[in-house]
Amino acid sequence: MKDSYDLLVRGGTVVPMVRDREWFRGDVLVRDGRIAAVTRGPAADIEAERVVDAGHGLVLPGFVQGHVHVVQSLLRHRADGLELLDWLKKRTWPYEASLDGDDVEAAAELGIAELLCGGTTTALDFGTTHDHGRVFEAAERLGIRLLSGKTHMDLGDGCPAALVEDLDSSLAQAEELGTRWHGAAGGRLRYAVAPRFALSCTRPMLEGCAALARDNGWLLQSHASENAGEVEEVRHLTGLGNIEYLHSAGLTGEDVVLAHGVHLGAEERSLLAGTGTRICHCPGANLKLASGIADLPALLAAGVPVALGADGPPCNNRLSVFHEMALAGTLHNLRHGPRAIDPWTVLAMATREGARALGLGKEVGVLEVGYCADLTVLDASAWAMQPDGDPAARIVFGATAGDVRHAVVGGRPVVENRELLTADAAAITDKVQKATRAVEARMEECLA
Ligand SMILES: [Zn+2]
Repeated sequence: MKDSYDLLVRGGTVVPMVRDREWFRGDVLVRDGRIAAVTRGPAADIEAERVVDAGHGLVLPGFVQGHVHVVQSLLRHRADGLELLDWLKKRTWPYEASLDGDDVEAAAELGIAELLCGGTTTALDFGTTHDHGRVFEAAERLGIRLLSGKTHMDLGDGCPAALVEDLDSSLAQAEELGTRWHGAAGGRLRYAVAPRFALSCTRPMLEGCAALARDNGWLLQSHASENAGEVEEVRHLTGLGNIEYLHSAGLTGEDVVLAHGVHLGAEERSLLAGTGTRICHCPGANLKLASGIADLPALLAAGVPVALGADGPPCNNRLSVFHEMALAGTLHNLRHGPRAIDPWTVLAMATREGARALGLGKEVGVLEVGYCADLTVLDASAWAMQPDGDPAARIVFGATAGDVRHAVVGGRPVVENRELLTADAAAITDKVQKATRAVEARMEECLA
């Protein structure tokens, strides 16, 4: 009798990422949403309810991004030419203040569709202050694995009043959202508490966020040391370095993911490494906002766990893990020479190490029996992927989001032959156009 499976991903070159520099021709078999077997050569004597063709393809763990803002998607291409603090005050905060629930949903659908069609199956996402349930609803429908949280901000220098929150109700909203959504959709959705950054939060707010996360076993995420002006301002207000200040308020540890870490000294890197705090490297956004270049080789050498992320659509302007991989694999050569970062290290940051950084190291990030069946199939016949050879070099230096052929989350194909299966792409586009017009009109009022 033949063994039966729910899904067979057939005929590709498998890059399991369990260890670096390993790849082979084979099949991936899925049962009950988990990887049931990874074969070398074609699987024999099996039957599968559904078959996904990976011929001429590279089969990888679904990509993991450690920092995105899908709610900002409608502001894409509308916030260019600014540094961080002006980008927030003049564009991003007025935009977030202008969103209603339907706009949040349209933005989330756009961002999530882009992530899935670009092979990112897991993301740690940052919301705005309000209507955050709509992001989880979109994630539930579209099928992505999402860790997400509403943002917290109770300090308002240059911020529209509509975004400045009362501490108690802000924390109560997060608790309600986390209670509703953490573990939903069969564990695919998780809550991650999200104080925006040191300058947006009072110390009691930061401490309250840390306590809320720890009381519930939820991840904590924030932004840190992205911009030189930000770091200077934190020192002016608190008398401490930014990481030292966050540490004093409880925002370091193995359950904390801090985006950026561009402006860090050696002592701060040691503090991050010693506390197990994760950094999400966002080179695309750091270049676009002229923030600087995070010293990735120094972070890795210090032992800081690092993930990769695109950050927000208005500061990148894409949510492509391939763009971030290409930058992470090349940018650091300027400071450290042409072998600064090995492409396998970059590919691991976008899969295995990214998953570990998000606390999902036993769930996703590798193709191994027992792990969630989250995988991405790339078209290896794309021009820039030829000729064949070391897959990490081909992917990091040659691939783009357009090369993603299929994406599977928890054993469920969500993208097949470049088509999003979980939503009507034309309907999303239509919704996005309408919502963008409405938000633009409200932003004009907000800025008047
Ligand atoms: Zn961000």
